[in-house]
Amino acid sequence: MRCLLFACLLLGSLPVLAVDRFQVEGYVLPNGLQVLLKPTADRDHVAIRLVVGVGLDDFACADKELPHLLEHLLFSGIDGTGEGALEERMQALGGEWNAFTGNADTTFVIEAPARNQRKVLDLLLAILTQTRFDANAIHAAKQVVEREEGGHYSHLQRWLDRQDLGHTASKQLAVELGLKCAQRAEARHLSREQLDQVREDWYAPNNMTLIIVGGLDRLLPAYLERTYGDLKAIDPSEHRPLPGIQHPAAVERSLIHGWVGNGAKLHWLFPEPVLDEQYDETFDLLKDYLDWALYRQLRLAHGLSYGPWAEREVFGGVGLLSLNADLEREDLDQARQVLDQLKADLLKNGLDPASFARLKQAAIARQAWAVQGNSALADYYWSALGDFEDGRFDDPARRLQAVTLEHANLALHELLAQPGYVRIEKPLLGDDQVLWLLGAVFGVMVLGGLGWRLRRKQ
Ligand SMILES: [Zn+2]
Repeated sequence: MRCLLFACLLLGSLPVLAVDRFQVEGYVLPNGLQVLLKPTADRDHVAIRLVVGVGLDDFACADKELPHLLEHLLFSGIDGTGEGALEERMQALGGEWNAFTGNADTTFVIEAPARNQRKVLDLLLAILTQTRFDANAIHAAKQVVEREEGGHYSHLQRWLDRQDLGHTASKQLAVELGLKCAQRAEARHLSREQLDQVREDWYAPNNMTLIIVGGLDRLLPAYLERTYGDLKAIDPSEHRPLPGIQHPAAVERSLIHGWVGNGAKLHWLFPEPVLDEQYDETFDLLKDYLDWALYRQLRLAHGLSYGPWAEREVFGGVGLLSLNADLEREDLDQARQVLDQLKADLLKNGLDPASFARLKQAAIARQAWAVQGNSALADYYWSALGDFEDGRFDDPARRLQAVTLEHANLALHELLAQPGYVRIEKPLLGDDQVLWLLGAVFGVMVLGGLGWRLRRKQ
């Protein structure tokens, strides 16, 4: 009986654990370091994320690789023993680490056995405070960064980028609108002084958040206060304002991608109007709805595209929502008619209430399994830092629930009332054109040969 009672209590408490993922132990150390601790039932492991508030958006086009280069340099070794020795120390602790430089932040990502959590955190602190990089390390890191960005930036690639031909459709449009740098940033010219400056200006506790999820050590808060609490705060730097739309862009353009082929991609892109409430959730739901509408129209009804899709992307301070389809070249016109019809129908009749309700419920249901395990939870906290307040993350299911059909219809109308931007990506030549071209070349050769023989006979 007692066992049964215990089982009932346990089962009764399980849903509480499951919905509790939004509640986190969060506090700020005296030096400004924000700490988020989340003990979970998965006790053998800890997921650690150190989020530093400096990213690509904080630098002008030419210097955009600065935070990325610095991120790599921080793995180049402590106390003069090199990057190999550093890696060996992490291996000995049974952990793995990596780092990512994004538009808004630079984040160090660690997975480790719970029993070594303090030693792993010691090592992370050591790379932040003890890494001294020399010219060799800088040179090596520059080469890695260059390789990651797609190898050496050739003259041809630079020229193509300047002509807007080296980018995919949404990036090309973003360049045209002034939301994105026209050329790829390079690391080669960056100096040690610049790197030191970035480290000094941004790598400070009052510009960092430390997230730890999993089997937390009981002494962790005291340990953090003693170690990370010793980092010196700085006067915070101002983030650069994100660019808005600066120039008009062509309503329609063809972009050449590749040399020969019969395929084509059709993209129709719309800047997202800014909404006062539930901005992200509303456009996420609209994206789901348009995804489904494209599938129904282009694949099921007309068989023009196998996997058409809707997509949301952010460039600078502007979101772009796009309708996209992989097509055969000769189907481009028909696909455009179908999309025109879809747009006209949505503007006239709005969203179908039943479909909207179904997709909204599906999006809410997805939240129940969208985040599983310590690592996913830590990543979720990292992505949602802006929604953390008073020890709680905002529940996305609740926010999705709050998006009404009327609200979504208003946003849809504002979105589609714009003409949008059509971008068609296709190879330089279609297969038929190549055959014609080869035939023409062959004909010229035959005629040339005949002419030559005639002349010799004379
Ligand atoms: Zn990298």
